Amino acid sequence: MASLSLENICKIYPNGFEAVKDFNLEINDKDFIIFVGPSGCGKSTTLRMIAGLEDISKGNLKIDGKVVNDVEAKDRDIAMVFQSYALYPHLTVYDNMAFGLKLKKVPKDEIDKKVRYAAKILDLEKLLDRKPKALSGGQRQRVAMGRAIVREPKVFLMDEPLSNLDAKLRVQMRTEIAKLHERLGATMIYVTHDQTEAMTLGTKIVVMKDGVIQQVDTPQNLYNSP
Ligand code: ADP
Ligand code: ADP
Repeated sequence: MASLSLENICKIYPNGFEAVKDFNLEINDKDFIIFVGPSGCGKSTTLRMIAGLEDISKGNLKIDGKVVNDVEAKDRDIAMVFQSYALYPHLTVYDNMAFGLKLKKVPKDEIDKKVRYAAKILDLEKLLDRKPKALSGGQRQRVAMGRAIVREPKVFLMDEPLSNLDAKLRVQMRTEIAKLHERLGATMIYVTHDQTEAMTLGTKIVVMKDGVIQQVDTPQNLYNSP
């Protein structure tokens, strides 16, 4: 878990377009932050800046009080789960989850423990030998999540992770994500268009429009106010 401070953050793309304007937000340990807002309002850009995949044009991003603007993505202790979960097609489920840890030269027995733990909480134990093409969409999505979990990041960023799933799986995965948040005590930042996901998962909802924060409130206040 970690706290994050986004202080006057702006993103100006090389073509001059200002996608995020003066973004200010305090995120506490164990928060489950939901970003909502119309397509193109800057949600993904903000996530990518937090992950270190996109430069911050102005302002400061602090993690646990330290400015990390210049810290490389791989050193930020943040995992991102995208909507399109690109698994390695030639690797088994086990090796897809183990891949990042192998690169970091984590000892094999330690990798094994972490992969098995993730497989257990994501109900993938019986699928470890399969290749991605032999999995359903929901199973693939869980592998993508497993890959993030084994890294034990302090912060999870999820960009519409359930939008490609059918309704039944979405409900099932929503429950799993809630459990994950509880179990790992991680700080979550989550983009969704789905009001039910926002209501059931979020501790705080950030409403964006045209690169600007319009409102920050609890789901109860936001959706139940008269
Ligand atoms: P959202 O995730 O809310 O749909 P994005 O963060 O993806 O929004 O995009 C915010 C705005 O920035 C959009 O208008 C988009 O067209 C623009 N944008 C995204 N990437 C780039 C880029 N590389 N260069 C210029 N503009 C971009
Ligand atoms: P290498 O890097 O030498 O190719 P592997 O990835 O084949 O190593 O295996 C490393 C360890 O991970 C093995 O000792 C084994 O315990 C475990 N392992 C690999 N694949 C699986 C699997 N499908 N199911 C269970 N355990 C596996």
